[in-house]
Formats: sequence, structure tokens, C-alpha cells
Amino acid sequence: MAVLQEQTATGHDFLQRSLAEVDPEIADAINLEIQRQNDTLELIASENHVSRAVLTAMGSVFTNKYAEGYPGKRYYGGCGPTDIVENIAIERAKKLFAAEHVNVQPHSGSQANMAVYFAVLKPGDTIMGMDLSHGGHLTHGHPLSYSGRDFKVVAYHVRKEDERIDYDEMDRLAQENKPRLIICGASAYSRVIDFKRIRQICDRSGSLMMADIAHIAGLIVTGNHPSPVPYADFVTTTTHKTLRGPRAGLIICKEQFAKDLDRAVFPGVQGGPLVHIIAAKAVSFQEAMQPEFKEYQTQIVRNAKALAQAVGDAGFRIVSGGTDNHLFMTDVFSKGITGKDGQNMLEAANITVNKNTIPFDTQKPMVASGLRIGTPAVTTRGLREPDMKTIAQLIARVLDAKGDNGVIADVKKNVKDLCDRFPIY
Ligand SMILES: *Cc1c(COP(=O)(O)O)cnc(C)c1O
Repeated sequence: MAVLQEQTATGHDFLQRSLAEVDPEIADAINLEIQRQNDTLELIASENHVSRAVLTAMGSVFTNKYAEGYPGKRYYGGCGPTDIVENIAIERAKKLFAAEHVNVQPHSGSQANMAVYFAVLKPGDTIMGMDLSHGGHLTHGHPLSYSGRDFKVVAYHVRKEDERIDYDEMDRLAQENKPRLIICGASAYSRVIDFKRIRQICDRSGSLMMADIAHIAGLIVTGNHPSPVPYADFVTTTTHKTLRGPRAGLIICKEQFAKDLDRAVFPGVQGGPLVHIIAAKAVSFQEAMQPEFKEYQTQIVRNAKALAQAVGDAGFRIVSGGTDNHLFMTDVFSKGITGKDGQNMLEAANITVNKNTIPFDTQKPMVASGLRIGTPAVTTRGLREPDMKTIAQLIARVLDAKGDNGVIADVKKNVKDLCDRFPIY
């Protein structure tokens, strides 16, 4: 080919070489990961398998583009196609979430939260978030995260009796501390969150409200969980969990905060947007507007209920007694196994979950008494309720045998058979 020869002659043929040619080590690792995902029952509640369409957009030449600023107001030339992409992503997100204003540039969920804090908080302000060990997220005020460094942090909890959010405590703490911002939303909470009630609490204490729906965004846009958008001043989310888009973030806010928020994202906490990722977000929003996506999210919830029920039937205590969403927590220490050991035993059988503290945990976070189990990824593969019963039995066999090698080898075979019936890529 003339073009290729010319490039060879000028030394630019490297642009055309395949990944396997340029970097066999990384190419091999990618192939190992494809195989691992195909052969694994992925029960990590925050993970999912994206479509080829999303992967294609993520791997596109938009990665080459600098586009600091916003559509129509860029600091760089050549942003025509970029503006098309970002405008489409914004319009789709507004429609999907029924939002007044959205910013599609956050690189991640953590940076989305950081941008909101930059938009409305000053160092020394008081914020209130859910305690990490009760289901909250690091970025909701934990001392190990930026969010716990410059603000005074007050944490609310779940009740000991039923392991559900203690709204009365939240209300009392809000009255006592008058936080500038109350953060709700969680990483390990299996029950419906009462956003309307939280708005009332915020109004009584004069606080702004932020709902971080990183985990449940897919459920929300399909009516499988009430939406915080009518109530919250800010709604932040990731796009890669139940929403099944690229690894990234998104912020929704009331029109009155639009300018401050956009300034906080860029130039406040980020530089150039990841235009290839914004393109992939737009694709995933398009997918999320299809009727099949609603069926998918409804099935996630059905599967989570079926799996929680079956794991409970196998004798493991389920935190709060069940689930309303895509995940549940099981207290494996109720059977004398730590979360850490449980996670490792299951991983050996190609079932991936993560250890997690449970409310009022007696173990350290790196050990933990619980496992967090979620159904978004296995539901993407096409598994349904009867398969959840099978999975629960496999989990129980591994844990009850305390990781016995013979049992693990046998369960691994069963996992492989199940995975082969539901290929991903
Ligand atoms: C996952 C998660 C985040 C962080 O998302 P990253 O993209 O990993 O930074 C923030 N908040 C909650 C509630 C989450 O579950």
C-alpha cells in the first residue's frame, strides 16, 4: 500500500503496528483478562461487562484530543467533532435522569464528588456522610480521603436492630451540627434510600443535599429505585457500575449551581476531559434509554433477591435480612469465616466477590466479617433466578468446606460449565 510504504520510508510505520507486535507482554495480559472474565462468575457489586459499542468508543482516536473548556467555549482548536460528542452526551444524560444541568467531564466517581465539594464548600465547613463501615464511601468524609482532610466530618449510621439507615439520628445530628452539606448514597447498602426524607432533614438544618448514586444509577434511570434528582441539589454518579458504561463519573445539579459546578470540574479539579470516555458515556446513555435496559435492571434486582434468599437459606446471615437493590451483604463470620478468607476461597473457585465490613463489625477493615455480593455483571451475561440458586450452592460449598482443595477444584468445574453457557466477549 502506497501510504504504508511512504510511512515506512519516513519512519512512521509504528502507527500501523498491532498491539501484539509492539507489546506482546501487555497484549498477553489483555488476553488473560478476557479469559479470566469469561471464566469467572463476577459478583463484585461495582463491576459490570460493557458492550462492544462502548469499548469501541473508549478505544477511539478521541484519546488524542485536548479539549479544555466546554462545548463552544474551548481553549484549543479542532474541537468540532468533540463538541458534537459532548453535546450529545449532555443531552442524553439530561433526558435519562430528568436533570436540569449535567456535567459529563468527571474522570471518576471520586472526582465527581470532589468537584461538588469544591463548588460549595470552604475548608473548615462541616459535612455529614454515612459511616464507611456502615455502607458509605471513602469520599463521604473518611479521614483517609481528601474529603476527610479539610472539612469537619459528622457521620450517620444504620440502626443496630434492622441495619437500615437511622434517619432519626441523621435528623438529630443535622440539627446539632448544621452541616453545610449532607451526603447520602452508599457503596454497601442493600435497602431503598429515602431521598425525600433526607431532603426534609436538609431543609430543617439548612443544609445542601448531595446524593451519590454511583451504585444504583442504572436502577434509578429505569424506575427500579426512586430518583433523588427532584430533591437533591447535586447528584453524583459513576457510569461504570449498574449504568454499564465506561469507567468514569457524572454530575447532575440544579440550574442555580450550574456555573459554580462547571468551574469546579474545570479548571477546579481537572484538566482536559477524556473525550474518548465521554463518547463512550454517550453510547452507554443511548443503551440505557432502550427498553431492554429496563428489563436488564429489573432482572438485576430479581437476581439479587433470589441470590440473597438462597445464600440465606444455606445458613449465612444476610445483613438487614435481604435486599431491595442489586447487592447484599452476608455476614460470613456468622459461620466462623472472615471476609478476607471467604473472598480468597471463592476466588480460587473463580467466583469473585469482595470482603466488606458489616455494620458494627468486630473485625478490622482488611479482614472484615462480611462479603458484598452483587448481580449486575452476571445479569449482563444472561443469568437468571434458577442460576442464582446454583451460584448460592457453589458459594456455600466452598465456604462450608473452609476452602478444601478438592471442593474448590470441583466447584471451579461447575463455574466453568455455567460460564460457558453464558459467553461474554
Ligand atoms: C464507587 C463509588 C465511588 C467512586 O467511584 P470511582 O470511580 O472509583 O472513583 C463514589 N461513591 C460511591 C458511593 C461509590 O460506590
